[in-house]
Amino acid sequence: MNFSNSYACLDKVFYERLRPTPVQDPQLFLWNSSLSEQLMIPNELKHDSVALAQAFSGNHIIPGSEPIATVYAGHQFGSFVPQLGDGRAHLLGEVLDQFGQRWDIQLKGSGRTSFSRGGDGRCALGPAVREFIMSEAMNALGVPTTRCLAVVTTGETVFRETPLPGAVVTRVASSHLRVGTFQFFAARGDHQALKTLCNYTIERHYPELQEESQNQYILFLNKVFERQVHLVVEWMRVGFIHGVMNTDNTSLSGETIDYGPCAMMGIYDPQTVYSSIDTMGRYAFGNQPDILHWNIARFAECLLPLINADRNKAVDLVGPVIAEFPYRFEKEYMKMMGKKLGLTFFKPEDQKLISSILNRLKDRRLDYTIAFDLLTKSLMSETAASQINNELGVCFDLWKKRLSEQNEVPQKVQELMRQHNPVVIPRNHHVEKVLQESEQTGRVTLAEDFLQVLRSPYEEQAQTFEYQDPPSDCDENYQTFCGT
Ligand code: AMP
Ligand code: MG
Repeated sequence: MNFSNSYACLDKVFYERLRPTPVQDPQLFLWNSSLSEQLMIPNELKHDSVALAQAFSGNHIIPGSEPIATVYAGHQFGSFVPQLGDGRAHLLGEVLDQFGQRWDIQLKGSGRTSFSRGGDGRCALGPAVREFIMSEAMNALGVPTTRCLAVVTTGETVFRETPLPGAVVTRVASSHLRVGTFQFFAARGDHQALKTLCNYTIERHYPELQEESQNQYILFLNKVFERQVHLVVEWMRVGFIHGVMNTDNTSLSGETIDYGPCAMMGIYDPQTVYSSIDTMGRYAFGNQPDILHWNIARFAECLLPLINADRNKAVDLVGPVIAEFPYRFEKEYMKMMGKKLGLTFFKPEDQKLISSILNRLKDRRLDYTIAFDLLTKSLMSETAASQINNELGVCFDLWKKRLSEQNEVPQKVQELMRQHNPVVIPRNHHVEKVLQESEQTGRVTLAEDFLQVLRSPYEEQAQTFEYQDPPSDCDENYQTFCGT
């Protein structure tokens, strides 16, 4: 493989060098062929499932790989933990893909490190398959995300509440730089390391800023802010609930990272929470923008000493950027919602229409994905129009009236809406069924069938309808767990 490891070239304070702990009986469970093409995995490896299982369990170290476990800190549910780090993950290294883009290749579930604390360094098969399926679905939906190259079962048992089959998942990310990485060094007052980290991140993710000599860190903050806003707006578009938006799960590249307790919202309700540990609803669907604001403020704090040695002066420069957040978020969010409703241009008055439609969905307990799919179809189908008209009542008329101002042919509007409204999402009950099948029978067919549909979320294929149904209990009793 085409390894080119830049993070491992940084000072030792950023990571620990160590090999994955070998597993008993590695077997390839899921393999991402299209991603493997993009990453230019060599043919002799790609077509040999035994070699793949050896390499992506960590049993065999691929030449060129220099495994490390990275250090970071983070606010978890609002409380600062000064040291976290890869407690069950090994960064094998970075590879350049066919477009010259750099990717981290990381094994997760590959054994203990000095950051494991009490943990076993392992991962169960269910959460590994969840990460594979959810990230593939998000990628196909057009939401920035880390991806999975492989899931390998280990032949070992991991003990959670019950004994479970173990697995190693290979995560591919633009990088694993997190807000928490910056917090680790900021909290220790290690400004030298902080500066190195900023320069490294700018070079890797925001190279256009390298030319800037004035206010480079403010511009950096703005860019990170912008990408994160785009990311969370995209989550809101498809109904994704991350579930654990801690600062160590907020990526500098603006990708969705950590699919532990995530879920999809069915019935539209901003208060929706599925994570069993989120008892206060901190990471509820509708709180995600506010939490992002909070996380970005934590990131800004890390940059203060680099912006100005005088903390008050630095705060004066950063303050206005952070204060702007609600307006910048709202603007992007409304633009996105406008497109979901087929609006080719957005007027401030549209905010009212958007809110009334969303309120109506909430009051009538309507499914978010189905409602927007029906609205999309209603432009060309009488049946869909009457169905959604019955549900939305006067909101439907207001929407039609607003569309008539645009003077666009229905087909064009439908196209725009279709780009923003999926026909299928990874519904929680289907995800759970696939995970159960994987864990209980070791069979991979259900997962593969599901993935095929999820990879075309804006198209109705022959099998799509099997996955569009909301669960019979509307997910009233649904709960997710951290997957550790
Ligand atoms: P996560 O909930 O996956 O974001 O993990 C939070 C922290 O706990 C990270 O530092 C992980 O490396 C660590 N961690 C999670 N699960 C385990 C495990 N089974 N063994 C060791 N460390 C873990
Ligand atoms: Mg995490």
